[in-house]
Amino acid sequence: MTDVIVVGAGVVGLTTALALRAENATVTLVDEGRADGTASWAGGGILSPLYPWRYSPAVHALALAGARLHPCLRDTLVERTGIDPELRRDGLVVLDAEVQAAGLAYAEAQGIEVSSVGIERLRALLPGLTPDLKHGLYFPEVATVRNPRLLSALRAALEVDPGVRFERARRVEQLVLRGGRVQGVATPSGNLCADRVVLACGAWAGLLDLPGGRLQIVPVRGQMLLFRFSPPALEVPVLFEGRYLVPRSDGHLLVGSTLETAEFDSGTTAEAAAVLEEFARRLFPMVFEGQAPLRHWAGLRPGSADGIPWIGPWPETPGLYLNVGHYRYGLTMAPAAARLLVESLMGRASSFGHVADYAPENRRSATQGRAFSVGTAAPES
Ligand SMILES: Cc1cc2nc3c(=O)[nH]c(=O)nc-3n(C[C@H](O)[C@H](O)[C@H](O)COP(=O)(O)OP(=O)(O)OC[C@H]3O[C@@H](n4cnc5c(N)ncnc54)[C@H](O)[C@@H]3O)c2cc1C
Repeated sequence: MTDVIVVGAGVVGLTTALALRAENATVTLVDEGRADGTASWAGGGILSPLYPWRYSPAVHALALAGARLHPCLRDTLVERTGIDPELRRDGLVVLDAEVQAAGLAYAEAQGIEVSSVGIERLRALLPGLTPDLKHGLYFPEVATVRNPRLLSALRAALEVDPGVRFERARRVEQLVLRGGRVQGVATPSGNLCADRVVLACGAWAGLLDLPGGRLQIVPVRGQMLLFRFSPPALEVPVLFEGRYLVPRSDGHLLVGSTLETAEFDSGTTAEAAAVLEEFARRLFPMVFEGQAPLRHWAGLRPGSADGIPWIGPWPETPGLYLNVGHYRYGLTMAPAAARLLVESLMGRASSFGHVADYAPENRRSATQGRAFSVGTAAPES
């Protein structure tokens, strides 16, 4: 029998499995193998909250801790698999004029590097930027990761580990309980047994019946466009009016995103494509002239009230743990969230601040009776 079953093999489940293996626990990773809609594949890979000063200390602390662990995760994965997740520290330029004072105050309070940049520096950082925008804030420490490669590297590292079993194309339909304790999970092709189960199933976590009720985790759709330029058109990611452009090393350029409540529909819409294209063309008119997107996709974020994830034991059910609800920043938070979850599963005191903020029993009381909406999930950005 495996020590721990992890349900969901997105970035959260995979990093959780890796952290459990570092503790020598054997792991079974169960994933229904969705062909589309999973957030970890669809995301932009910016390793920071957008406008971080608008978020609660709980979101901010976990994102900062996650971002700081990514270089070590990258080194481990490159060494074990040879797959480079393309962690790049190119910084981020924020172009919204009205956030300049708040951004500077935040950076000073947190000891984060920032510079206020005028037109000349902007042109150097962002060649082709519209002359309408003349000021920005440059956060040089912000990094990005190429998330599909991060997932490939995580999978490859776990696949060669004899302490990990992958159960692919198996949908967990319910928990198996005995005497109130978790004993495993039920799938259409039979039960899998373990006396500890971690739910890391993203936007779908709220569909499972748990003792004490379903989780308030709601899918929030985000659409992305992909362009390609040769040579690369942009080196530095840029954020404006809540949307962003993220360059990859090979000339691919992502334009994102939308925040939509569309239930579990992970289809794309012509309206969103038009909005994202218009955004990119308005910022970089010459760069995007005559360019058509190569691809258009959508993913479902695991939306949680206030954007705060649920990490730790489920109070009603010994053996059941959650690592869900990372909403807009799961790629950033994942290594820190995995560490936090494993500390709690191993019964160790955490050195991490704000632990109680993510505890499922506290998340449940904080969200009880509150209707979820994109607006209450996190500040509009
Ligand atoms: C458009 C977009 C842009 C984003 N940009 C960023 C960004 O720049 N930076 C950032 O930090 N974050 C970003 N995010 C958010 C981030 O992608 C998510 O928070 C994170 O990927 C959530 O990871 P997850 O593993 O919980 O969920 P997912 O990646 O969705 O994985 C869940 C997994 O669980 C499996 N599963 C579900 N139900 C079951 C079941 N019953 N049985 C078995 N398996 C099941 C699914 O098949 C899936 O593989 C973005 C998200 C989107 C959609």
